[in-house]
Amino acid sequence: MKSFSARLEKWYLEHQRDLPWRKTRDPYLIWISEIIFQQTRINQGFEYYQRFVEAFPNVASLAGADEAAVLKQWQGLGYYSRARNIYKAAQIIIEKHQGVFPDTLEDIRKLPGIGEYTAAAIASFAFMQVFPVVDGNVIRFISRLYGLESLFTTDAAKKELYVLLNTLIDPQKPDIFNNAIMEFGALQCKPASPDCKKCVFQAECVALKQKRVDELPLKLKKKSNPIVFLNYLMFISEENKEQLTWLRKRSDMGIWQNLYDFPCLESDQKLSFKQFEQQEFFKDIVSKTPYHHIKTSAKHIHKLTHKTFYAYFHAVEFDNEVPKTLAHLHKTSTDKLHDFPVSRLMEIFLEENGF
Ligand code: SF4
Repeated sequence: MKSFSARLEKWYLEHQRDLPWRKTRDPYLIWISEIIFQQTRINQGFEYYQRFVEAFPNVASLAGADEAAVLKQWQGLGYYSRARNIYKAAQIIIEKHQGVFPDTLEDIRKLPGIGEYTAAAIASFAFMQVFPVVDGNVIRFISRLYGLESLFTTDAAKKELYVLLNTLIDPQKPDIFNNAIMEFGALQCKPASPDCKKCVFQAECVALKQKRVDELPLKLKKKSNPIVFLNYLMFISEENKEQLTWLRKRSDMGIWQNLYDFPCLESDQKLSFKQFEQQEFFKDIVSKTPYHHIKTSAKHIHKLTHKTFYAYFHAVEFDNEVPKTLAHLHKTSTDKLHDFPVSRLMEIFLEENGF
């Protein structure tokens, strides 16, 4: 019987999807594709990838851009720490590597936002180095094929998987092997109802023999996500026939760092506008300036892996003057709101309200 890698590669050549980043050895393009598709499905992220590399075709153009422009290109992809890390890494490549993408696993791994998986992917796809990749697709396929019962949440379990993959990888074609094993998990050994009758590995698949395909890989039981209420304040005022509003740039270290949004109070229960007006947060910022409440939006739900946001946008108009407390915010015309990098949650609200 042909070796594991030969059968896998044959399957890949017959079934692979036609994806632009698989046709290049440019480490920059490979890196950007790997980061975009870490938490985004290929059909969802494809256009983002194309737009991003069109806007920033190489490390120099990315490093020379404004961070806000990079975040704006990323808008809609979520997980903005990926964009911030890409931007930081581009600066490091210019400053420490004279603008040349590093070509050792160790140096690639040192760049912000690059973990074991991404470093191995870049090293094998761009530089033909023999490092196996381990992503969710690989874990699922190999767990089922060998009947592995590890959780793969610990370094020790992952190390065992690397040892096994190192015995399987084709040292002549590490790029094809790595693409093939991930593609096999994505298209053939799918999470739900894989078509095992058509699988080239069905004869030796332990999970299939033991009727445990649905059970493997083992997963940690999910905890239920807490709900956090976000109470946004959209201030409106008119000046010289222009409608103005105020944004804050988020300086906290959270997921939306350096993005723009309206001033916001988090709460652990729903606040009506009447209740919101009574909060110190609201009173401090409005500071007795006359205003009237225009409307409060319907609930906007935004799910993260570890919590769920229920967001309400309260629109408030100042009748004559605006409070001095707004001076530390960014004043903008509501016509220009779409120029700011914002979270997906904000983007949906702005789109729904014609901004
Ligand atoms: S037989 Fe089924 S479970 Fe086993 S490797 Fe093939 S697709 Fe995956």
